[in-house]
Amino acid sequence: MVNDISSSEIKQLVEDQVNLPSPPAIAVRILSTVQQQDYSLNDLEKIISADAALTGKMLRIANSAFYSLPTKISNVSRALAVLGTNVIKNIALSFVIASDLKGEANCYFNFDYFWRRSVTAAVAAELVSAKLHLANEDIFVTALLQDIGVLVMYLNKGEEYNDALKNCIIHGGTGLIQSEHEKFQFDHQQLGYVLLKDWGLPESITLPLRFHHEPESAPEDVQKIASILDVANFLSAIYSGTETLANFKKLEEKMEGYFSFNSDETREILDQVALQSLAILDIFEVDSGDLKPYSQILQEANDELGKLNLSYEQLVLELKESKEKSERFARELQEANAKLEQLAFKDGLTGIYNHRYFQEILDKEMARAKRYGHHLGLLMFDIDYFKKVNDSYGHPAGDKVLINLAKHISDTIRPSDIIARYGGEEFAVILPETKGSVLKVFAERLRRCAANLTTSTENGPIQVTISCGGALLSPTDSINKQNFIDIVDRALYQSKDKGRNRVTVLQLP
Ligand code: GH3
Ligand code: MG
Ligand code: MG
Repeated sequence: MVNDISSSEIKQLVEDQVNLPSPPAIAVRILSTVQQQDYSLNDLEKIISADAALTGKMLRIANSAFYSLPTKISNVSRALAVLGTNVIKNIALSFVIASDLKGEANCYFNFDYFWRRSVTAAVAAELVSAKLHLANEDIFVTALLQDIGVLVMYLNKGEEYNDALKNCIIHGGTGLIQSEHEKFQFDHQQLGYVLLKDWGLPESITLPLRFHHEPESAPEDVQKIASILDVANFLSAIYSGTETLANFKKLEEKMEGYFSFNSDETREILDQVALQSLAILDIFEVDSGDLKPYSQILQEANDELGKLNLSYEQLVLELKESKEKSERFARELQEANAKLEQLAFKDGLTGIYNHRYFQEILDKEMARAKRYGHHLGLLMFDIDYFKKVNDSYGHPAGDKVLINLAKHISDTIRPSDIIARYGGEEFAVILPETKGSVLKVFAERLRRCAANLTTSTENGPIQVTISCGGALLSPTDSINKQNFIDIVDRALYQSKDKGRNRVTVLQLP
């Protein structure tokens, strides 16, 4: 875009509008020393060692996982011997410039954000370079200082720069470059280039920096390094910006386009950038914010989502369960009620009315008969020799007989008649509105019904007979219920006494 413009022209454009900050004194000393043809390691060592803070940082970084050296470096001289002059010079410059160009965050510029972004980009560039097996000792400091032009613009122009670049400032890129050109006729790449060249940094650093957003415009031998700076910018932006996904997509495209890195390789580097940056930011005394690996960010987001899903799923399940529970409860209640009702009124084995209900009904029917001037018949019958049935066929077979008999007699009686199991193998039938002559006939019918009934069981068919007793209550009788029952019971035992399988009807006194 602007590579046809000469260095001196750019310098002129920049210096017309911007006051370039002077380099930190110690950086000047380092740079002027290494520029001398016959400088000794000792000279560099002396400069660095004179600055305790710088020495401390230097040794920390030399001993960090970043260089993962096999032995501990305990002094600058050793660091120079192991890592080489150029590396040490670059590390020193990085620290010196970064700490010099730090200030309080103001409404235009957040220094912490800037250096976090820059250090992360430097680490990213180093990692990409290592992945490409490029032995580039300048890459760290180059990436670190690539946006120094932005910082200088803020220091000079503040609000004006901010306003002009509002929409594209966050993540840099070509949009930013274009806006800068429209507003100032130069961009922050060129400003950084002019500044660092002025400070005495070599072209191996300043030239790639000049094209870090547009590697394709760089001289051919610089393109690869400029490309590394470009992706380093995105690797760093992902951890600093808000458009994480958009930046990740752009990063993937660039990693693929420049270096044929696949998505997995890109993710691996992206995670490494965060992991390595944490230690380096600490040495640079830059707040790392909540920097964490991309995969962890994704994992946490996924966990959050999972929690949401889970609680939604739980909610649905709980709803479903409580619905089932209440349905089951309602069903159980209904069944229990039915059972209670049965228990209250019906006999569990035969399903006909039980003794308690018989007593209740007889009370009511006696009162009703009296009230309406009707006769009321009462029959009671008992299976003959039922003990023998149980003994011969077994108790369950006896049960079958009871059930079968109750059923058939129920079918024989009128709907208005009430049959109940009085107890054991003894039954009672209440016959409302029954005349005396009919009672005897009716009792005979029951006796015959029983006698003609065969119950088939596992142990063979069973036939039983019944002995029946009865009495008729007329509307004028003033006998009580228990006496009525007693007389019927007496009639029943008379049938037994007379030889069983017969009917006896007694007159009430
Ligand atoms: P009787 O002709 O004098 O009535 O002789 P019985 O054997 O029928 O009279 P007993 O009172 O000696 O015996 C009644 C038998 O009825 C004894 C008892 O085991 C049986 N029984 C009573 N209730 C049930 C029942 O619910 N199921 C079965 N299988 N047997 C019952
Ligand atoms: Mg009996
Ligand atoms: Mg009996």
